[in-house]
Amino acid sequence: MATLYQEARAALRELALRPRKKLGQHFLVHQGVLEAILGLLDPSPEDEIVEIGPGLGFLTRRLVEVARRVWAIEIDQSLVGWLLKSPLGSHPALDLVHGDVLKVPLTDILPDHKVKLVANLPYNISTPVLFRIFELRNHFSFLVLMVQREVAERMAASPSTKSYGTLSVWCQIHGQILGRVAVSPEVFFPRPRVRSTVVKIGLYPEPLFSKEDYPVLRGLVRAAFGQRRKTLSNALAGWLKKGRDEIEMLLLREGVDPRRRGETLSVDEFIRLAHALKNTGLIADS
Ligand code: SAM
Repeated sequence: MATLYQEARAALRELALRPRKKLGQHFLVHQGVLEAILGLLDPSPEDEIVEIGPGLGFLTRRLVEVARRVWAIEIDQSLVGWLLKSPLGSHPALDLVHGDVLKVPLTDILPDHKVKLVANLPYNISTPVLFRIFELRNHFSFLVLMVQREVAERMAASPSTKSYGTLSVWCQIHGQILGRVAVSPEVFFPRPRVRSTVVKIGLYPEPLFSKEDYPVLRGLVRAAFGQRRKTLSNALAGWLKKGRDEIEMLLLREGVDPRRRGETLSVDEFIRLAHALKNTGLIADS
């Protein structure tokens, strides 16, 4: 039986396709890692699953064997054409969607109840895809994503570490990391220059901060990380265009030392401060 690597080479030859760097086309050709992704996803016959970027369909064909329905969203027309001609193309459980995951109207395509999401993400769009998923979070129960190792580190990072930033706060208000698998470049064809990690993120039923108040939290997070070297009171005074005294009083009231740097705030502290800012007049004309 041909290995995934041999299958990938043969398919690309048949398609006369050179993997496109711009689309992050590094195909997973390692059976063990494929099984690890399936292990985290744990597909069952009741499941409905979204896959971003099916590529040559190696994972997709395993998903349709088990799940009730699979939406596979692929941007590359030649891969879509190839998948449609393959046995997968006529599989009753598969909905192949040709389009850009950042633009397709997922809300129209997906059912009202929650589905699982899996993707070996093109590295150059992993952050915007994550933010899109968080925006549409009500559609998803959990996510299994292959991302660049550094992105996985940023997602899970703790305060006062180099990796801690906007992505950490945003990921951690939406859910928690339930599993991780480290992946080396050799498991892909062609090999990427970076190392990867598969992460499983369980989304909380509700985010830890209400959606209507995101602008306050977004502003606070931006101010805190945009000026990492400044004290919190200076960073907030710059953002809110207010006097430092007023800001310091608010921080002290919330039990936060104004001399701390923004990057030392825990997710709970970000949430508490965003609530406090919202409940004072301070944010009104920011
Ligand atoms: N899932 C396959 C695998 O694991 O071998 C392919 C993974 S490859 C890293 C990324 C896939 O996403 C490619 O098939 C690529 O064409 C597709 N892709 C890239 N940008 C996309 C986008 N904006 N929307 C949907 N698919 C995209």
